[in-house]
Order: sequence, then structure tokens, then C-alpha cells
Amino acid sequence: MSKKDIKSMTYGEICDIMKSSGYPSFRAKQLFSWIYKTESFDEMTNLPKDMRAFLSENYYIPKATPEKKLVSAVDGTVKYLFSFEDGEMIETIVMKYKHGNSVCISSQVGCRMGCSFCASTVGGLVRNLTAGEMLAQFQYADRDTEGGISNIVIMGIGEPLDNFDNLVRFLTNINDENGINMSHRHISVSTSGLCERIRELADMKLQITLSVSLHAPNDEKRSKLMPVNKKYGVNELMAACDYYVSKTNKRISYEYTLISGVNDNASDALELAALLKNRLAHVNLIPVNAVKGKDQRASNAKRVKDFEEILLSKGITATVRRTLGSDINASCGQLRRDHKETAGDMNVLRQN
Ligand code: SAH
Repeated sequence: MSKKDIKSMTYGEICDIMKSSGYPSFRAKQLFSWIYKTESFDEMTNLPKDMRAFLSENYYIPKATPEKKLVSAVDGTVKYLFSFEDGEMIETIVMKYKHGNSVCISSQVGCRMGCSFCASTVGGLVRNLTAGEMLAQFQYADRDTEGGISNIVIMGIGEPLDNFDNLVRFLTNINDENGINMSHRHISVSTSGLCERIRELADMKLQITLSVSLHAPNDEKRSKLMPVNKKYGVNELMAACDYYVSKTNKRISYEYTLISGVNDNASDALELAALLKNRLAHVNLIPVNAVKGKDQRASNAKRVKDFEEILLSKGITATVRRTLGSDINASCGQLRRDHKETAGDMNVLRQN
């Protein structure tokens, strides 16, 4: 029988295991908090030896093993390439801000959404990450970052709402007072716009921030950039967003990546402003990161500024995202992809 990932289990499930295995209930609390401090049952020194043996025989604690760590000389942004037990790799990024450190975690190995500008989707979806593997990324980054991590954005490789059950487990566990106890107010989840899942999330009334990757103000342009738009068009997406706001009363962040000559015209800005008018919305403008093998280029600084000003003049709040880690190959998915192409080199690196 294969061992089970204990970091993906909720506190309630661990209580049930303690009960069915004949251990007193206070052990659940101890065990749950240990899972977020160590990857080895042997180190759980206040648990009885027989219990540690029972746990080692039946469970494992997933960990994120760093294969590469790049640190930006420009702004201190850190990018990790992590591997998991089966050898699959993802990327995790730590961004340093005045108000604290944020970690951007991945939710899947690869992605099946097929967005035309995105490196993560090249090669498609390999597999979902478990909640434990998502937590392990946070945990490694938290330990490795001076001052720790105070915010989480689920905006790395993958579509989090395409891995819904594991995402919900992750959100449940990170918020549990017996473990990390991080408030959902410090967590953002980004989606390409899976409408049923947005509604499901809305019904849960969590305090997380929802980011919606919009990138174009109408179906014609959005369908060219994001195949998901052929399934859920802009109107359907906005209806799901309105439902989300009605249930949570939380403002939605709309991500809009500016691609030269594609979606950065004044008319696009005006159309976007009209779309978001009277909606609880904030727009994040991001000049597209050029991805190897793709021909999209970022809008120039003037275009970006003009676009922002049109939105502001129409009463839509918007900010231009600062580009972080420009010297370490910023946009997510590229490191994993480069690694796959040069896997031979990496083996050498690992042996050293
Ligand atoms: N699948 C989710 C989360 C991962 S992508 C989503 O689509 O939201 C995180 C964000 O980065 C999204 O807004 C995505 O559209 C954006 N993104 C992807 N590739 C990019 C690139 N090359 N340049 C700028 N932003 C990019």
C-alpha cells in the first residue's frame, strides 16, 4: 500500500485518524502543527515512538526540493525551481515589498488553458499539485526568506480553479489555527475565468482576493488570446464576477497584460472602462513578458501610461504592475521549460 500525503489532510481528518488508530485526541493538535515545521516524523519529539513509527509506515510529508534558486540583483526577487517526489518541477517566486514579502505559488505542473502569451501552458497539463505540495512551496519560501512570508498569491504555473478540491484544501489548511493560521485576507487566487468554479468559490464566502485574468475587453480579442473564452465568453465571465462580488462583497482584481498592437489601443481602454463601469473592480496593468518562441511584445511605456490614464479618467482604478526580477527571467513557466530543454545540464548541477 502506498503512503498517504499527510500535509494534504485537514485538521478534522487528522483527528479522525487519531481516533481510529487509538491515539488520544490531543495528539492531533500536536501532529498537525508539526507537519508545518518538519518533513520528518522522527523530529516530532513530543510524540510517542510507536506513534511516529505508525505515521512513518503509513504517511509521508511532501516537500519542495530546490533544484535551482535565482536571486535578482535588481530587486531581490527570488525564483525557485522546486521538484517533488516524482521528479516533476514547478516554480515559486518570492517578491519583496515594503509592506512585507509575498510568495507566488504554482497550483499545477503545466497548464491546459492554452493562453497564447503564457509559458506555463507550453506542453500542456502534466498533473495537479496536491494541497500538501502547494503548502510545501509556501513553507520552504517562508523559512528561506528573512522576515518570513506575509502574503500568498496563487498565480504561478497552473490554473488553480482547474484544481479546485486541492485548492480548497490548501486554503483550509493554511488558515487553520492549529497550523500556519494565515488569514485569507492575505491570499489572492488568480483565474483565467472558469465560471462555475468562480460561483462555487463565491458560495464559500472566503475572504480571499479573486484575480481574474481578463486581458481583452471583448470576445473577439479575448478568444484569440485565451481559448477559455470560447467556453465562457466575456458576458458570462462578468456575470460570474458579479455573483462573486454579491456573495463576498470583495473587490475583484482584473489582470490585463498589455501586448503591443494587440490589446493596448485607446479603444481597448475605453471598452474596458465601459465593461468595468459600476463594478467593484481594480485593474492591474502588466506589460507582457516576452516568452521565448512567442512573438508578442510588451507595449511601450507611453502606451502603458496612456492606457492607465484612460481608465482613471473613466473612474476605473488601475495600477501598472512594477516589473520584478527582470534579470532572472521573470514570467513564470520559463524556468521549468528551459530546464526541460537542458535536463542534461541539470543532472550535473544536482550531483555537485
Ligand atoms: N491560470 C491563472 C493563474 C496563473 S497565470 C490565471 O490565468 O490567472 C498568472 C497571471 O500571469 C495571469 O494573469 C496570466 O494571464 C499572467 N501571465 C501569463 N503569462 C504572462 C506573460 N508572458 N506576461 C505577463 N503576464 C502573463
